[in-house]
Amino acid sequence: MQKKKLATVWLGGCSGCHMSLLDIDERILELAKLADIVKCPVVDGKELPEVDITLVEGSVTSDEHLHEIKHIRKQSKILVALGDCAVTTNITGMRNYFPLQEVFDTAYRNAVSNDHSGEVPNHPALLRLHDKVVPLQEVVIVDFVIPGCPPNADIIFYVLNELLNDRQPNLASVKKLKYG
Ligand code: SF4
Repeated sequence: MQKKKLATVWLGGCSGCHMSLLDIDERILELAKLADIVKCPVVDGKELPEVDITLVEGSVTSDEHLHEIKHIRKQSKILVALGDCAVTTNITGMRNYFPLQEVFDTAYRNAVSNDHSGEVPNHPALLRLHDKVVPLQEVVIVDFVIPGCPPNADIIFYVLNELLNDRQPNLASVKKLKYG
C-alpha cells in the first residue's frame, strides 16, 4: 500500500489534544510505516499540501481560523475533528457567554501581568476575533470526530490506524473507550 500523507493542525485549542496525540508514544512508529507527517505543530512543514488525512484540534475563533479551516478542507480527503473544542467548542466556546470586548479586556488589559506598560497586543489575528466561537462542522464538512478533552491516546491511535488502512473506524467497537 502506498504511504499516505497525514497532517495535524491546531486552531482554537489549548494544545492538549496534540499532547494526547504524542501520548501514543512508540506506536507512532507503526503509523510512520503507513504515512508521512507533512504538517504538524511539532514538525517543520509550514505549508499544507494535498493530504489524505488532517486532524484538526480546536474551534474556529477568528478570520484567520476560518480561512485556515476552509483551506484544510480543500486540501484534505478526510478531515477529522480532534477533541471537544473542535467538535462542540467546549472550553474555547465559554467566551460565547460574554461580549467580545469584555473577553478581550479581561485577557489583555485587566489580567495580572508582569507587563505594566499598559499596551495591549495588536496582532492582526486578535483584532479579527469573531464574536462567537463555532465548532468545525458549522463551517466545513467534517468526516469523522474523536471526542474527549483531551481525546484518549488509544482512541487517537485506533482511529488513525483504521483510516490509514482504508477502514472506517467504529468507536463503539473499541473496548474500554474512555472519554477524555
Ligand atoms: S478539547 Fe480539551 S485538550 Fe483539546 S484543545 Fe480543547 S480544551 Fe484543550
